[in-house]
Amino acid sequence: MSGISIYVHVPFCAARCPYCDFATAPATSRLRARYLAALVDEIAREGVRLGRPRVRTLYVGGGTPSLLEPEEIASLGAALRLAFELRPREATVEANPATLDRARLKAWIALGITRASIGAQSFSPEGLRALGRTHQPEDTAVAVAAIREEGLDVNLDLIFGWPGQSEAAWRRDLASAVALGVDHVSCYPLELRLDPEESVANWPGGGWEVLRRWRSRAAAAQPDDATIARLYRIAERELARAGYRHYEIANWSHPKKNSLHNLVYWRDGEWLGVGAGAHSHLGGIRSANPASLATYLARIAACEPRDVDGEADPAGEAAMLALRLDRGLDLRRYASRFGAVAAERVRSALAEVAPAGLVAVRGDRARLTARGRLLANEVFVRVLA
Ligand code: SF4
Repeated sequence: MSGISIYVHVPFCAARCPYCDFATAPATSRLRARYLAALVDEIAREGVRLGRPRVRTLYVGGGTPSLLEPEEIASLGAALRLAFELRPREATVEANPATLDRARLKAWIALGITRASIGAQSFSPEGLRALGRTHQPEDTAVAVAAIREEGLDVNLDLIFGWPGQSEAAWRRDLASAVALGVDHVSCYPLELRLDPEESVANWPGGGWEVLRRWRSRAAAAQPDDATIARLYRIAERELARAGYRHYEIANWSHPKKNSLHNLVYWRDGEWLGVGAGAHSHLGGIRSANPASLATYLARIAACEPRDVDGEADPAGEAAMLALRLDRGLDLRRYASRFGAVAAERVRSALAEVAPAGLVAVRGDRARLTARGRLLANEVFVRVLA
C-alpha cells in the first residue's frame, strides 16, 4: 500500500449537545485513560497489519479532540508515528471554540496538525442556546485568531435550520464566518434523529428519553422545509459572493483549501478509522467499530476485528458520493470500475429524476443541479436502491 488516510475518533465532550448523534462520551479522566490505552493498542495493531504505510491525510474527529490534554495528544502522536510513516499532506483536528488553548494547540502542531475544524455552529446567542451549545458566540473569533497565528488552515462548521432561526439570523452567521476570513466553511441543516443511537449508553443521566423529548420539541419548532431550502440557497449565494467554491453539497472552500481528507471519502477512496464508532474502507470492504465505549474497549482488549458491513452497496455508494461533489460522476469511468450492470442501474436512476430537474447529464458527466442539491436524498435513494 503506497499511502493511507487515517481517521482517529476521540469521543469525549464536556457536555452532550442534545441534537448530536455522533459517538460521544463524557470526558472523565478515568475513561479517557482507558480509551487512549485502547486507541494506542488499536493503532499499533493496524500499523503492523497494514505494513506501516505512509499516512497521506489524517483527521482527528469526535467528540471534541481539542479537550485532550497536551500529554494525551503527545501519546497519540507517538503511537501514530510508531505504527505509521506520519508525513500527512493534511492533518485536521476538530475543535470546540471554547476548549482550544495555546498549550493544546502547540501539542497538536507537534503531532503534525495543519488544519483545525471549529464547531462554531452559530454566532448568535439565540442560535447557540437553541442548539444546546455551551460555548459563547465570541469564543469562535478568539479560537480562529489563535489558530491563524500558528499558521494553520481553518474550517468553520455552521448549522442552519435551528428552532426560531430567521433568514436574517442566518445571513448574520454567514457574514460572521466570512469576516473571519476562514479557508473553508461547512454548512449543515439541523437534522434530528428520533431513534436512539448506540452512544447514548456512554452518558449518565436521563438517557434516550430526555434526548427524545428535546429533539421532538426542537423538531416542532424548526423552520419549515421551504424556509430551510431558502437558507441553503442563501448560503450558496453569500459564500459564492465571498469567493468560496461550493465543491461539495455541504462544503465551501477558498482555492486549493478543500478538505483533502474528506475528498478521500467522497471519491470513494480507502481509509482506516480507529476508535469507537470509527468506520473504515479498506480493500473494498467497509467496516466499523462499535460506538458504545464499553463494547469498543472490550473488543480491543479481546483483539476482535471490526464489524464488516455486509449490507454495503459499494457501487451505489460510490455513485452517491461522487454526486455530492461539484465535479459529479464520470459515468464512463464508473462503468469501467463497477461494470455495465451497475452503470445501467445508475443511468436509469438518474433518468428517473432528470424530469424533475434534479440532475444534469452532459456526455459522460452527471451532476446534481441547484435543485438537486436541495433534494439530493431523492437522487441518492434511487442510486442506492
Ligand atoms: S461537542 Fe460536538 S461531538 Fe460533542 S456532543 Fe456537541 S456536537 Fe456532538
